[in-house]
Amino acid sequence: MSSVAIDLDNPYILLTPGPLSTSPTVRAAMLRDWCTWDDDYNQGIVNPIRERLVTLASGAEPTAFTAVLMQGSGTFSVESTLGTLLPRDGRLLVLANGAYGDRLAKIAVTLGIDHVVHDSGELAPPDLTRLDATLAADRHISHVVCVHCETTTGMLNPLADICRIVKGHGRLMLVDSMSGFGGIPLDVATLGIDALVSSANKCIQGVPGFGFVVVRRDVIAAAAGRARSLSLDLFDQWREMEKSGGKWRYTSPTHTVRAFAQALAELDAEGGVAARHARFSENQRRLVEGMQRLGFACVLPRPLHSPIITGFRSPTAARYEFRAFYEALKSRGFVIYPGKVTGIESFRIGTIGHVFPADIDRLITAVEASIDW
Ligand SMILES: *Cc1c(COP(=O)(O)O)cnc(C)c1O
Repeated sequence: MSSVAIDLDNPYILLTPGPLSTSPTVRAAMLRDWCTWDDDYNQGIVNPIRERLVTLASGAEPTAFTAVLMQGSGTFSVESTLGTLLPRDGRLLVLANGAYGDRLAKIAVTLGIDHVVHDSGELAPPDLTRLDATLAADRHISHVVCVHCETTTGMLNPLADICRIVKGHGRLMLVDSMSGFGGIPLDVATLGIDALVSSANKCIQGVPGFGFVVVRRDVIAAAAGRARSLSLDLFDQWREMEKSGGKWRYTSPTHTVRAFAQALAELDAEGGVAARHARFSENQRRLVEGMQRLGFACVLPRPLHSPIITGFRSPTAARYEFRAFYEALKSRGFVIYPGKVTGIESFRIGTIGHVFPADIDRLITAVEASIDW
């Protein structure tokens, strides 16, 4: 087999919600090998990452929480969390308003978890009155799960309001904050979140290969023997990491983990989550303003937007075709994302990753040059 040419320069930036564009230094951090059971790796890299994730998630009450890393993409960590934390006699309420909410429900179906789904549709936030009434009426619901930023549309769900209702009824609160954590400030202790799931290749700007769960210590400690899967047993992974100084049960993605440690250091150097949130927000503000100037309309009303990703309606011109538009932008150095909203022709542009307001200004110029309909 002939060798594959290595091109260290990215030919385009990824305006996609993960994997996303990473810094050259995050990519360079992968250029050495690590032993998966050696202390250099586990005590030197894995445990400091776990500790940093806890303090990132909860400045208010860090000792009540622990962080567990899990191999695979983000969905593996969500499946691991639901499959391990839900007791056999538990019942899960799923708040869904997009593809990722639907995926939570699909995991429950696949794992045989008793569940109910509140689907508010892709264009509406969750129905909080219905949530409150359902929790009051159904004592069997033990856990509620929601998506923080619904990447399907870019909608930022009202996490604080949802948590307040769920905690008011004394139920456990699980959050898929895959595309929000690290880019949107939050405190799991203050909000009352029992487990929060995210992954390496979203707002923390690492490369893909693992996800992580920040979970209350008492909640994970109570979950022994509940897992519906061997490799995705979150309790067992946590116990091994605690017992063996950060060791994963099975082969860990060492290079990805080392890159993630670099990404966390770069998050701190940028000024933490607040500074990153400000950059993403400025990216998104310029994006919407520029696209609207060029005649594009957003899928969602402005108050429902997140700084993470934004959906735009496809132009109605007969000659418009997503694939040609996509290729034209790609040749100018930008990769965008197809739309995912049912019944609306759209495309999406992400504003997270190693992407800066000046990149968004260049994108708008490229969009203008790519319009040929
Ligand atoms: C990216 C993402 C996931 C996980 O997707 P993977 O492809 O498994 O990494 C889950 N939920 C949300 C909201 C996401 O944005």
